Amino acid sequence: MYDNNNIFAKIIRKEIPCESVYEDKKVLFFNDINPLAKIHILGIPKKPVINYREFISLKDKDFVLYFFDKTLEVIKNIGLDKTGYRIITNDGLDSNQEVPHFHIHILGGDNLGGLK
Ligand code: 5GP
Repeated sequence: MYDNNNIFAKIIRKEIPCESVYEDKKVLFFNDINPLAKIHILGIPKKPVINYREFISLKDKDFVLYFFDKTLEVIKNIGLDKTGYRIITNDGLDSNQEVPHFHIHILGGDNLGGLK
């Protein structure tokens, strides 16, 4: 069951601050507090979904598409489409997902090496 008190839910409600990169009524993109690359942005939908499986299973497919369209917009706005980037999402025990609100990591800004 979705935990309304997870850190990203609090960030969406503005109870915890974040460095926003892009925000509208449906989505939020913000800098990771502990960056693993020169650019490390987290992207979250403003819906109570825990992981990728739940997000993709939403009946509102327009919303799912909106999220990934905005992801590309953010990538283009900061020029990562020219230099390259990596998108990661963690889901389930083996992934060590830390925050139980679906999110993607957008990494770039430098050569990322092999898989992290
Ligand atoms: P996960 O392991 O769940 O895929 O990744 C969670 C990410 O959220 C981590 O990269 C971690 O650094 C980031 N994070 C955790 N707490 C906060 C916070 O309060 N603010 C921001 N901006 N990022 C956070």
